[in-house]
Amino acid sequence: MRLGSLIDATEAEGPGLRFVLWTQGCSLGCADCCNPHLWSAAGGEDWSQDALWERLSGARARHPGLEGLTLVGGEPFEQDAALATFCRRVREAGLTVMAFSGYTRAELKARDSKLLEEVDLLVDGRYEVERYTTSLRWIGSTNQTLHFLSLAYSPDDPRFTEPNHAEVRLDHRGLIQVVGFPFPKVREEFGPQSALARTTRHLPQAKQRGSA
Ligand code: SF4
Repeated sequence: MRLGSLIDATEAEGPGLRFVLWTQGCSLGCADCCNPHLWSAAGGEDWSQDALWERLSGARARHPGLEGLTLVGGEPFEQDAALATFCRRVREAGLTVMAFSGYTRAELKARDSKLLEEVDLLVDGRYEVERYTTSLRWIGSTNQTLHFLSLAYSPDDPRFTEPNHAEVRLDHRGLIQVVGFPFPKVREEFGPQSALARTTRHLPQAKQRGSA
């Protein structure tokens, strides 16, 4: 699997505490994508199934409340088979899977996606900047939809109507990570073009809603 980055636990990328993978590579090219550094399939680094499982297991040991895995990107469904295998193992271990995709659910079905079969929550559709919204939970533009693909979650769960939020994290190396909803102010302050990014070491991770 080719990954741009990952974090062990956050509450900003789906319901509950979640392990998050930013997959590397996206061919869709949405205008104003906030993760263009994840477009190239040659970027990031390779992770084996076992190495990633070990990382997830360690995260789960450190964060016993971990509820699931979230796939963002980049475009997770452009690494369909490998991520399907990993997500099957994740679900068998009792965790849920959420995925953000620039493809629509219909497109993923037409592609005969195996990964789609391993996803409990899907946010689908291209990011369309002219339809940008902050008011829909985990959705970046109004053409996108949050699909409940299994019984793991219910739309009645109050977490699906809470406001979007972002986390700004500073790790022990001084690296800044921005996780969660890419509000304009967050992109302005912490995005790759920000004054902060020009003066500090910076690890941009704000994800495009509905993209992966
Ligand atoms: S918004 Fe998502 S689907 Fe669109 S180009 Fe960016 S990473 Fe790809």
